[in-house]
Amino acid sequence: MPTLLATPCRTPRCPAIAGRSGLCAGHARAYERQRGTAAQRGYGTMHRQWRAAILARDVICRACGKSPSREADHVIPLSQGGGWSLANGQGLCKPCHSRKTLAAMTRIA
Ligand SMILES: [Zn+2]
Ligand SMILES: [Zn+2]
Repeated sequence: MPTLLATPCRTPRCPAIAGRSGLCAGHARAYERQRGTAAQRGYGTMHRQWRAAILARDVICRACGKSPSREADHVIPLSQGGGWSLANGQGLCKPCHSRKTLAAMTRIA
């Protein structure tokens, strides 16, 4: 149908002609970026829930076994394929967590 070809962009006040997505090329890209931000927000929620679950399970630091755990740490970092499972998490106290972070940084350097 010819009228479909002339559908304007779904974005209010945008005069551009929309593509198949219902958005003009510029707004399609803009919405794509927005979805990226939403995914990052999802990551934040996931991390908060994961952290809470780890800290609830590991009340005491898993490294020194003395101090209360304050940080949820990925046993295998996400960048190395570690996931968001409870098995890949450990509760650490702040000193142990920063020691581990520092050790990881030293390994990279
Ligand atoms: Zn548009
Ligand atoms: Zn500790």
